[in-house]
Amino acid sequence: MTKFRTPAVASIMLMVLAGPAVAQNAPAQYDIALALDPAGSALSVVVEASGLPCQGDVARVYLNRGLTLTETIIDGRPVEPVIDPAGAEPFWIAASRAIDIPCPREKARLSYAGPGQLHRDGRNQVAPELIELSLYGGWYPMTAIDRPFTWRLRTALPEGWTFASVGAASRTEPGRIDVTSDRATDVVLIASPRFTDDSVEIDGRRSRVLISDDAPIEARQVAAGLAGEAADMSAWLERVLGPVEEGRQVRPELVFTRRGGPLSYSRLPLIVTPQASLLAPGDRPLGLNVRHEVAHFWSRSEGAANDWISEGVAEHLALVRTGDREGDDTRRSRLDLYRQQVEAAGRGVSIADTHTDETRAYINRYQRPALLLDAVQASVGRPALETFLRRLFALGSSLTTATFRSLAVETLGEPQATRISACLISMDWPEVCGGIDAPRPVT
Ligand SMILES: [Zn+2]
Repeated sequence: MTKFRTPAVASIMLMVLAGPAVAQNAPAQYDIALALDPAGSALSVVVEASGLPCQGDVARVYLNRGLTLTETIIDGRPVEPVIDPAGAEPFWIAASRAIDIPCPREKARLSYAGPGQLHRDGRNQVAPELIELSLYGGWYPMTAIDRPFTWRLRTALPEGWTFASVGAASRTEPGRIDVTSDRATDVVLIASPRFTDDSVEIDGRRSRVLISDDAPIEARQVAAGLAGEAADMSAWLERVLGPVEEGRQVRPELVFTRRGGPLSYSRLPLIVTPQASLLAPGDRPLGLNVRHEVAHFWSRSEGAANDWISEGVAEHLALVRTGDREGDDTRRSRLDLYRQQVEAAGRGVSIADTHTDETRAYINRYQRPALLLDAVQASVGRPALETFLRRLFALGSSLTTATFRSLAVETLGEPQATRISACLISMDWPEVCGGIDAPRPVT
């Protein structure tokens, strides 16, 4: 992956990587013992994996090429893995290398070690004052981007370090932490001795904010403001859409990491943003981004063909709340920008076919659905659209374009449902869908 030049590209990557995975088989299970040496900027790892997918009698995994395999044990027997096997396709993380091992009947155990910095922009590192590990560095064995696994991570942090991770974390003995995730998700660990650990409460909803104690005061104020917006967004969505799960409250965790590179990502409940962007945000406003990510606690669909629903609805909700919090002009000007960008992109695959042309992912997953939902809301009113969305989320993550359409017929009535159906398969973006119908200037 290269440096992101435009927010559109960054957002596409977020969508692809943060998007829910498609389960083909039962998820694999990883048990990860991670030894960290922040002072020496190094790490070593032992992973026990069961349920690895195999092709015939081989399982192929990918690991950052900066890491050195020291021992591979398959079903209790030591084996020689094939490093960089002939004919292996390049993996999406350029720094990773393919490793072939015999297909385990039960367990594969891989031991490896290497330098702390696994990506040049610092997004994956073990350093004296920062640990930030996620799949972007290939620090654990990967099989495919959309292949889920559940995991347990055990590690130790130096005394006085504060950490954030996905999954359920407990401190087992002084300094040792144990995190488990029954949900298939990326293994993320972020920790620093410099983090101040605060929480912000709005409307009875809390969010957590981690930021370095040496960040400029202005940056800390922006961070606290964003944590407030995250809490507000979750309180509002719970009112509008109902609880995410019976008895479960959303508690977003905003982590501002002191490293290079523009990459932001979310692995709920974590929303990870470079600290430097607090005072120099890119083209995508931070408040809109935080609201969009919080909306994903609710807005989830499975499979690339249905990604437009989770992304488009999250973007719509983020824009609606941005209007409430920052004024309707802010919301409208964002929609106007999308309208112009969609117009400039011209004719191309429809929303329903986005997965066949990923170059239009940002237009079709974010911009066109947000414009369409805004146009429908302008026709039916906000309460009616909220009823539609509430029923949509009640269907869980099994949403498809077909269920979206049939729910539109049931809750919004025939004329709106017809309009939605037509726009979802339209290659153009006319005014009825929220686009521009004006004649195009001849140049
Ligand atoms: Zn999203």
